[in-house]
Amino acid sequence: MVSIVGILYLQGCCVPHEKILKKLGVETRRIIYANDLDGCSALILPGGESTTMLKHITPKLEDAILTFAKANPVWGICAGSILMAKHVKNPSQKSLGLMDVTILRNGYGAQNESFIRKIPMKLKENDTFEGIFIRAPQIESIGDDVKVLAFDDEVPVFIEQDHLMATTFHPELAKDDAIHRYFLSKIES
Ligand code: GLN
Repeated sequence: MVSIVGILYLQGCCVPHEKILKKLGVETRRIIYANDLDGCSALILPGGESTTMLKHITPKLEDAILTFAKANPVWGICAGSILMAKHVKNPSQKSLGLMDVTILRNGYGAQNESFIRKIPMKLKENDTFEGIFIRAPQIESIGDDVKVLAFDDEVPVFIEQDHLMATTFHPELAKDDAIHRYFLSKIES
């Protein structure tokens, strides 16, 4: 069966994911309404602005995402990782609460404190990944079921909880598809 990866298409950095997944031979679908998720095998919640996304997630779409996430891989990137977290601070806001994580919005500072830094990463052949942090949230704490796949300066920046994962940086903007390939491996397993 062909896998279709849904990308929440309400706002944010979506096109680079489509390009990378197309290169990897994977079909994508733009998710705007609840029934767009029908037949998808995984879902990406992109980076962007979490408050704006929240405004556009209708109760019906929220229900569909929560049901989908019970059995299918979901990956939240930056703003998407904020949506994934159980607790959001600075300021506190509603979220989907999928991962046992407390996260601080804009935890590294304002727009002009955005940065790019190589981060050590075990799943890569060359052991580092270009971490592009844009007004990134900072993970403050994680529950026992959450595994850290990469730290930056002792702060978790790439985490997973079973079939769910989150990165506080933007892998779709790096010239490297290792994290996308890792996400796709969750569909098969
Ligand atoms: N600061 C944004 C938020 O709070 C996230 C930024 C991003 O996704 N690059 O939603």
